[in-house]
Amino acid sequence: MPATKFSCPDGQEIAISGCLDGCRCGTRCMFLPTLRAVAQSSDRKLDEPTVTELISGSRETYLKKITDYTINPESTLYALQGQGIHGIHENFIDGDILSEVRLKDGTTSGKFDLYGQLLDEDTGCLGDLKVTSSYKIMRSLGYYKKSVPTGEVYKTGAKKGQPKYRQELFTDGVRHVMDWAIQLNYYRILLEQQGFTVNRMVIQAICRDSSLRIAAERGIDRSVYLIPIKKISDRWLIRYFKHKAKVLKEAMATKEMPKVCSARERWHDRKCLDYCDVADYCDYGIAVKQSVQKRVS
Ligand code: SF4
Ligand code: SF4
Repeated sequence: MPATKFSCPDGQEIAISGCLDGCRCGTRCMFLPTLRAVAQSSDRKLDEPTVTELISGSRETYLKKITDYTINPESTLYALQGQGIHGIHENFIDGDILSEVRLKDGTTSGKFDLYGQLLDEDTGCLGDLKVTSSYKIMRSLGYYKKSVPTGEVYKTGAKKGQPKYRQELFTDGVRHVMDWAIQLNYYRILLEQQGFTVNRMVIQAICRDSSLRIAAERGIDRSVYLIPIKKISDRWLIRYFKHKAKVLKEAMATKEMPKVCSARERWHDRKCLDYCDVADYCDYGIAVKQSVQKRVS
């Protein structure tokens, strides 16, 4: 089931079709075509799961398929930025490059962004376009912050005599690109099944907050980064996707909710708290939100 309701800025809910027919507040909270685009971007079909659906937690995907859920148009706008970038690229594809072709196998289907001669003479480059935050780019590059002693001590106050620390940026950390790597590698497998050769995989990540100070503090001083993705074992990937597809299929057939999304899938609870559209239908999501509310009050 797709999202069926919008949440208005005043907290009231309205059926998406009702909103598109006429705003209950008299003046719309954003332009009508923008709202139409938001409605379309959140429209999920009940048919075979896609690569991106299978990468998400099974519980989240299941709930999005069976629940009559509500979305906040404002917090969904970021998805339109990504679609806009894809649309722009489509106008500049020549004969050496394939774009946005949906491929499928017996497990799932996926639409890769770009394949062909993208960066140099190599005609086997699989590219993916992302519009994302400086935080995500920082993590994908392996940048991290750590407290380091300044060499000074506090001279007065409760901390008198204790060493002072400052946050410093390091660039030798683990690259957190697992989701992107799983997605791109499965597109690679789908292309290879059709006889194409994929020599390299690269994400082009456009930073949506690159002009802000917070981005500079994270070491992100450019608007665009090319992030290479390594090959993942085909055997592992195929087993992983088959397993996720099976869990989802069984849940849909029995109407039994799959187990809680893994810590990686739920971004160590950050997703449950702020970014999961179906958190209000998930006991785990409800508990996470309640525990934070208790701490605040
Ligand atoms: S336009 Fe905005 S405020 Fe008006 S009904 Fe739709 S979501 Fe609510
Ligand atoms: S609230 Fe968290 S655990 Fe529940 S479906 Fe959403 S991401 Fe998964």
